[in-house]
Amino acid sequence: MIDVTSTDVISTTALVINFTYVLAAGLFILGLKFLGHPSSARKGNALSSIAMLLAIVVTLFDKQIVNFELIAIAMIAGSIVGIFAARLIVMTSMPELVSLLNGIGGLASLFVAWSTIEGNSQLSHFVLIVTFLALLIGGVTFSGSLIAWAKLSERITGRSITFSGQVVFNLLLVTAIIFTGYLFVAQPELSPGMTVVVYISIGLALLFGMMLVLPIGGADMPVVISLLNSYSGLAACAAGFALHNNILIVAGSLVGASGIILTSIMCKAMNRSLSNVLFSGFMPVVKNEMVIEGEVKPLSAEDAYYVLEAAQSVVVIPGYGMAVAQAQHAMKELQKLLEGNGAEVAYAIHPVAGRMPGHMNVLLAEADVSYEQLFEMDEINKRIENFDVAMVIGANDVVNPAAREMKGSPIYGMPVINADLAKNVFVLKRGMASGFAGVDNPLFFKPNTRMIFGDAKETLSAMIRQFSD
Ligand code: NDP
Repeated sequence: MIDVTSTDVISTTALVINFTYVLAAGLFILGLKFLGHPSSARKGNALSSIAMLLAIVVTLFDKQIVNFELIAIAMIAGSIVGIFAARLIVMTSMPELVSLLNGIGGLASLFVAWSTIEGNSQLSHFVLIVTFLALLIGGVTFSGSLIAWAKLSERITGRSITFSGQVVFNLLLVTAIIFTGYLFVAQPELSPGMTVVVYISIGLALLFGMMLVLPIGGADMPVVISLLNSYSGLAACAAGFALHNNILIVAGSLVGASGIILTSIMCKAMNRSLSNVLFSGFMPVVKNEMVIEGEVKPLSAEDAYYVLEAAQSVVVIPGYGMAVAQAQHAMKELQKLLEGNGAEVAYAIHPVAGRMPGHMNVLLAEADVSYEQLFEMDEINKRIENFDVAMVIGANDVVNPAAREMKGSPIYGMPVINADLAKNVFVLKRGMASGFAGVDNPLFFKPNTRMIFGDAKETLSAMIRQFSD
């Protein structure tokens, strides 16, 4: 009688847990959908957080939970670190933070896989395969993300790091991983030999992650981070199979899939293939042999004001320099003055402007720029020639017409915002430095372009002062 009752209780608990998992999975998917547009992104974030909380709380009802105190301590400590990290990190360092978070996700999956082995003496071949995958992908994600973080934060050189015989070394490494994987799966009982295999697997996975990311140049790190984000999802998914935990499988697959979609969007926006990003360190360096004609025509902020005062329409094209200068609030102030003066103001957002996807959207949202005024590259390019002024604020590569006009340019074929087709172009930057891609920009030499040199925030403030006087 007692047994029957306890079975009933267990099955009811299992039912509640699985129902809540389905609910959480639905909320994750809805959250991702909302994250697809700036106006609903906050809602998407909130829904996904609620889904995560539901998933964690309901998992605590699992019969295998042995120590609630440790879980509570970990949750509180994690939340404190998370809040401080999010508050203290400046926007321009966000890719580094994302990289570290991906790495920690990979490490968590590695630990889950490790504990699955340690806690069980008899495991099926299927569980051993997924556990090995979680160990491998988790380790690769962890060490790869640390290298990406070190490159981005300039703790190590951002250049591609290669050595002679690296390809052979990598092939040997892959062979060793496959062989260890075979030993791992073929030895289902926990024995001293198996423990050694586990340690070797972890070591090989960590080494492989380093070898994957070291040859990739710092310039491609954001794409690599997106890819590692996808890996961290796959590692979590594999860990979910190892633990028989449905929500971990679903959440891991969602992260894996969205990470790979984002990687492909970024590659497309940079006109690169993924293999080109991953293996360019092994390819010969292509020389930038562009010949640019024309002359640079500087203009003062004060003189630019007269053109802006007469403009009926202005399109603002922000880039990485706006993030560096933190010029978004000044731009919003200038926008109000321009609108007060009867001009239409639009913002053109390139998918890879800045240093991470959505970088410009976040900055402009911070300055309360209305979402209705943000236009994607394709939309704005259709009507850019109608704008009286294109104000390029700290953008460079994303407005480089060489991508359209110069076959020899390394960025030839990259989709760009055609700022040069507007009636007048103002480029706000400090000097003639090239952008992230390291290529010259013929836009600065076009007859309708005026260079307004200086920090973007200071230039915009000078324009605002002119309007206010
Ligand atoms: P760029 O990196 O091409 O150019 C930024 C420009 O900002 C520089 O030329 C710099 O010129 C200027 N700048 C820097 N500081 C200031 C300041 N304080 N005031 C005014 N200007 C300043 O930026 P884009 O946004 O145009 O392009 C982004 C690049 O990053 C692309 O090549 C893209 O492929 C790449 N990338 C983007 C990713 C993403 O997800 N967004 C991911 C990976 C790569 P100066 O020093 O003369 O002032």
